[in-house]
Amino acid sequence: MSSNFPNIIARKRNGKSLREGELRQFVEAATALTLGKETVPAYQISALLMAIYLRGMDFKETLTLTRAIADSGQRLSWPGVERPLVDKHSTGGVGDTLSLIVVPLLAACGAAVPKLSGRGLGHTGGTLDKLSAIPGLRMEFSPSELNDLLRRNGCFIAGHGPELAPADATLYHLRDVTATVESLPLVVGSIIGKKLAAGADSFVIDVKVGRGALFPSQPKALRLARWLKRAAEAEGRRCVCVITDMSAPLGRQIGNANEVDEALDILGGSGSAEVAALCVELAAQGVKAAGLAESITAARALASSKLADGSAREVFGKMIAAQGGDLTAFLRRGKERLTAAVPAPRSGWLRRLDALTIGQAAVALGAGRRRLDDELDLEAGVEIVTPRGAKVSEGEPLLLLRANSEERLREGLALAAGAVTIGDEQPTQRQLVRRVIR
Ligand code: URA
Ligand code: CA
Repeated sequence: MSSNFPNIIARKRNGKSLREGELRQFVEAATALTLGKETVPAYQISALLMAIYLRGMDFKETLTLTRAIADSGQRLSWPGVERPLVDKHSTGGVGDTLSLIVVPLLAACGAAVPKLSGRGLGHTGGTLDKLSAIPGLRMEFSPSELNDLLRRNGCFIAGHGPELAPADATLYHLRDVTATVESLPLVVGSIIGKKLAAGADSFVIDVKVGRGALFPSQPKALRLARWLKRAAEAEGRRCVCVITDMSAPLGRQIGNANEVDEALDILGGSGSAEVAALCVELAAQGVKAAGLAESITAARALASSKLADGSAREVFGKMIAAQGGDLTAFLRRGKERLTAAVPAPRSGWLRRLDALTIGQAAVALGAGRRRLDDELDLEAGVEIVTPRGAKVSEGEPLLLLRANSEERLREGLALAAGAVTIGDEQPTQRQLVRRVIR
């Protein structure tokens, strides 16, 4: 098989459209690598990734790639689950605690949410890393155990094992280390390939835009949203994409354990009103897509009431307990860390808190990985003490950084100081939801 792989690379390098057989070979080679067998060496797969990155793919190729990724493992089904199946995904953000809230909120609204999540990548956090801060919590289950969890609680958040879209693990890892992550067809294949394999009927995808997002520009984020939707619909799924602002981090906490704290605050009715409103909007779009409400207005009212009356918090508690997690132990944990504050360099309005730079600072502090095998410090992270848009005096603390060594703290501090812009005019309020593609 590997003997003609260079021809496939050359065809894409020369700007040709790849045929179905060629794309299937590419995905089979990636799958084999994930499963520990090498049929094509990683350097040839990587060369093809770069050719795809540079030359792009048309929609037909993208759909073939997406289907091949979905079929690289098992396509899960959920026998005995009566509720409509809804899945939620984000293209990746900074301080993006949303899945921890939206998953139980959707379940509280009557959906079944089989949520398979990943670890953090680059400057963006991952839901599995955040949840790993909860003592005892299991995130690896067999498909039949997952089915049980879904029937019992209406949701789970687990890691995808090697049975689900195994091609994506190798493709994503190689993209991460070959500067080929930001490719529209590769992102569509990765996201929709995994969502198809996870077996929900409706998808809500939070497509981030702005510095800190995979595609910072509005036109590219919009194109991504349209292609995600088209690929999902071509496979008979309903898909809503919500384009949301990622120019500044979401909420006040960026890290792992501290983002679980933040999710609990929001589920408990305190915490950032802005983030709570975004959670309600994402859940409402899922509720409407799944046919659990007649109109988007009714869906918003339902989601809003299930957050406010504590139903979503209750589902979250049940979900964590069913997965073996001990929230009491989590809340009592020791959080001692070295801390340092980023002060306001001068008096004025806090105009900008740059998501990308704060994400990079959080990684430097130990909240994210630079290499695949880096160990995380789950208590490390950044707390936004003063929100964007506030009037500040010189020397006032804006950000509070936590780490377990002076060295990490110094590096985080140097980065985080560059994330702050003070100006003489009051900034306009940030509009989180930019556009809904239904
Ligand atoms: N999230 C994914 O799962 N895959 C991508 O390619 C980008 C974001
Ligand atoms: Ca947050």
